[in-house]
Amino acid sequence: MTRLVQCTLVNDPFSDPGLFIDFCFGRRALLFDLGDLTPLSPRQLFRVSHAFVSHAHMDHFVGFDRLLRVCLHRTMPLHLVGPTGFAGERFDRLCEFHARETFRQREVSSVQLPPGTLLDGPRTLLDEDEFRIDSVVLDHGTPCLAFAFEEKLRVNVWSEGLKLLRLPVGPWLSDAKQAVRRGAPDDSKIVIRHDQSIPLGALKQHALRTARGQKIAYVVDAAYHETNINRIVALARGADQLFMEAPFLEMDAEVAAQRRHLTARQAGGIAKRAGVSRLVPFHFSARYRDHEDRLRCEAEQAFRE
Ligand SMILES: [Zn+2]
Repeated sequence: MTRLVQCTLVNDPFSDPGLFIDFCFGRRALLFDLGDLTPLSPRQLFRVSHAFVSHAHMDHFVGFDRLLRVCLHRTMPLHLVGPTGFAGERFDRLCEFHARETFRQREVSSVQLPPGTLLDGPRTLLDEDEFRIDSVVLDHGTPCLAFAFEEKLRVNVWSEGLKLLRLPVGPWLSDAKQAVRRGAPDDSKIVIRHDQSIPLGALKQHALRTARGQKIAYVVDAAYHETNINRIVALARGADQLFMEAPFLEMDAEVAAQRRHLTARQAGGIAKRAGVSRLVPFHFSARYRDHEDRLRCEAEQAFRE
């Protein structure tokens, strides 16, 4: 089955952190963090609809100007999401920067915490038909957001099946896909034309194929303590890929603790607890430039043991 998105780190693991999430169809992309964006072409940046920024430290935000410049004269707005104090707003307030408004921040929506929500649990920042972005707040001395991209149930159309049912391809198919994702009952009528409809069950049996969507989690700049660990595990649980900071070797755990960062070994252990399929360690400290293998080994060993 075709994927909804493909994701790649913007830079090498010793340079600024950032994850580019590119949609395979429909010109659109998302960014987790806005560090140095030089490796991304203007075309790639032009597709970015939302940028989620973990916190406003330089190495996570220095690329903002470049992104803004590229997106200045397009019609699609650029949405920025960040933690408390980010853009002078409350936590997770969505701000829209728009050229025609001479960069006045325009609040487009704010995410309310539903009553009774577990405080340590992930909160949804963006909820669309095909995917969702969840977030937790981590402690890095300053609040730092971690993110998870989760594709909803993937529904693909089997064109041979459509032919057998003698049904045309058309916009009605996206209604059918949405009905499947909602878990609508099999006797729901899917309208094809004003004079034609089909029960959802028949479509599912002959022309639709479903598969679990992919989940990608992104964690940077976090102190190693129980609250952070629990929040990361809750956010990343079962992810296909977890991009996680692993800046220090275990022998420098004291320095890591002072700077409120994880060691590679700690990152591997958390990834294991979260039951992710694949750990991608990054955001390495420059002091290990000649020892990249050791960082990777430590993270991998803790993840596998
Ligand atoms: Zn950082």
